Amino acid sequence: MRNDRSRILLVIGLLMGLTALATAWLPEVAYTGYIRLRTDTLPTLVGEFRGMDILYCQNESCLGVYPSESLENKAVCPRCQGRLEMTSLAERIILPADTCILKKQYHDGSGNEILVTIVFSAENQRSIHRPQRCLPGQGFVIEKTETLTVPLPGRPPLEIMVLTVRQQATPGSHFSHLLTFAYWYAGGDYETPSHYDRLSRTALDRIFRNRLDRWAYVSLSVSHAAGVDPWPWLKGFIADLYPLIQSPSDAGSSR
Ligand SMILES: [Zn+2]
Repeated sequence: MRNDRSRILLVIGLLMGLTALATAWLPEVAYTGYIRLRTDTLPTLVGEFRGMDILYCQNESCLGVYPSESLENKAVCPRCQGRLEMTSLAERIILPADTCILKKQYHDGSGNEILVTIVFSAENQRSIHRPQRCLPGQGFVIEKTETLTVPLPGRPPLEIMVLTVRQQATPGSHFSHLLTFAYWYAGGDYETPSHYDRLSRTALDRIFRNRLDRWAYVSLSVSHAAGVDPWPWLKGFIADLYPLIQSPSDAGSSR
């Protein structure tokens, strides 16, 4: 395992070095902006689930979060009268200005809830972070990491990285809920659950094709009680969601 990881890191190091050389010696890399996903909106209906927008107060001393359907005036925070946006203040501050984020909270009639977020990078690749780096900083402990597959009609199964995450307890607090966090990356026509595979693909495209496609980080999170496995219904949700987030103009085609 350790040897595998060392080999992966060595390959990535070599690719990074080649990328640096390519940056210096090869023709300029063209940013294509191409991605096979829709970039305008997430679907409202996914199977039995209905999605709603989430609105974030931009006042740093409030930071209220509201389902849009709960508000009559969707422009102003009901608590502090601050401005409401569909991107949180932290996301706006941390991520590059050319980042695009789509987000919806979905719920069915049986109490199941799921938050879907797609972060699109543009020319600046810093828009996309690996959750293994971000989650610990937000007080989460990753308990399990596994690669699972979602069968899709007419194509190979979609590979997804699934993390089981627990919120770190602080003195006097006890958290009995877990978070199942599932994600994959999509760039151009390519899909992968692996951060390292994404980096390799980006480097190879830069070196051998002089191109940089647009990348997206598709993530889904479900909060649930310990001992409850949401994967059976989450897998069905992803199978329903997948065709709805593909770009209609590119669906079924390849470069
Ligand atoms: Zn507010």
